Amino acid sequence: MRWSTRLILLVVGMVLLTGIISGGLALHNTTTQFNRYVGQAQEAQALRLAELLGEYYGESGSFQGVEMILGMPRGGMGRGPMMMRGMGGVSFYLSDTAGRVLWHPLAREIGERVSLEKEKVKYPVKNKGETIAYLLPLDNNFWGSRNLESQFTTSVLRSIVWGTALSIFIAVLLGLGLSRALLAPLQNLVGAAREFSQGNLSHRLEIKGNPDFGEVFAAFNNMAENLSRQEKLRRELVADVAHELRTPLTILSGHLESMQEGIEEITPENITSLHDEVLRLRGLVDDLQQLSLAEAKQLPLSKQEVDMARFIRETFSLFEAEAKEKEVEMILRGECLPLLNIDKGRMRQVLINLLSNALRYVPQGGLIRADLKLEENHLLVKISDNGPGIEPEDLPYIFNRFYRGDKSRTRMSGGTGLGLAIAKGFVEAHGGSISVESVLGKGTEFTIRLPLTTG
Ligand code: ATP
Ligand code: MG
Repeated sequence: MRWSTRLILLVVGMVLLTGIISGGLALHNTTTQFNRYVGQAQEAQALRLAELLGEYYGESGSFQGVEMILGMPRGGMGRGPMMMRGMGGVSFYLSDTAGRVLWHPLAREIGERVSLEKEKVKYPVKNKGETIAYLLPLDNNFWGSRNLESQFTTSVLRSIVWGTALSIFIAVLLGLGLSRALLAPLQNLVGAAREFSQGNLSHRLEIKGNPDFGEVFAAFNNMAENLSRQEKLRRELVADVAHELRTPLTILSGHLESMQEGIEEITPENITSLHDEVLRLRGLVDDLQQLSLAEAKQLPLSKQEVDMARFIRETFSLFEAEAKEKEVEMILRGECLPLLNIDKGRMRQVLINLLSNALRYVPQGGLIRADLKLEENHLLVKISDNGPGIEPEDLPYIFNRFYRGDKSRTRMSGGTGLGLAIAKGFVEAHGGSISVESVLGKGTEFTIRLPLTTG
């Protein structure tokens, strides 16, 4: 069932329920009140009549011609017959104290006997303090005329039914309007989702008005933003990978073709250079695989307890020859730190990537430093150099795969731009983070933050 239908049914149900409950209560109350009022009026009327009859008897000495009082308009009471009827339409008959009917609106009843004990409602007619007759109501429903009461209740009931019907009509209109207003944002959402499924990833929802839907819309837009970013990254990755693979493959096939055609000699040196190219390609493919594993958080780690200072010193030694050649000084600071539970192979790769970058960019006779520091539950490893620094506009992107600061740098003179992306992926796989600070002309500092309790 549609939500709008449900909403309308709900509103109508509520109105109906309210109508029934309040109508029932109102009806009950008014009938009770009505009966009480009519009863009191009739009682007063009966008492007054009994008094009049007593006076009449006192004056005339008998009840002869009593219909003057009982059957006629009673001007003395200030009410005409219509009014009397209106007050309950009760007529009375008269019996003597022994139960013989003295006067009755129906002449044939006169002289009949009634059992006075059975008649609960009777009004004594007194003369000089002595009961001489009884005034009895003709109507069985003396206390509240049923006829009038039913007229009254019918009219109340009719108003309630009409009122409820009108309320239901208004409720349906309101429900329609309300459901439209409530569901309009949902329609927007459905429309946006449809746009999305048709590939229009740039579609966004306008956030305004309703704060409840505002949150949903914001979440949707957020998701849309993420999705389109992912989609963009995916496209870029495919394009980048294709581009990165094409260059070495072109070189390889070019050399192989010229060897086939005899233009290039098949010498051990030529073969070695081709093999180098193949190794480079394999390295690139391996890097990409590692990176995608790390980004998908599926990188297998074989961890062990490691003394980081010693570990860094070992890694430094890998760059000894290169550093010596460039007259670069490499300093390590920070000792006696707690052991860290890490995957040595992956973390070595991280350090190699950072140190090889640093060594590439520091000038002749430069300085590369590794500082170890404890901070709360983390161990900070800072790798800094006094190289040229990184352009501020490049800084936010250097951890992106294939991002290279120097766009003109060819594959030969530098890397593929995967080093930092891999470093970031591996550090994050350890539950850590990596950040960079750089000042142009002064140097660059990378900070790896590893949790001490890497389980
Ligand atoms: P790869 O590491 O894959 O061989 P790469 O070194 O170009 O290639 P990254 O290590 O990811 O790629 O570095 C990305 C970019 O960040 C570099 O191209 C360079 O512009 C900049 N960069 C990284 N480290 C430094 C540094 N220590 N000093 C100055 N620039 C740096
Ligand atoms: Mg690098």
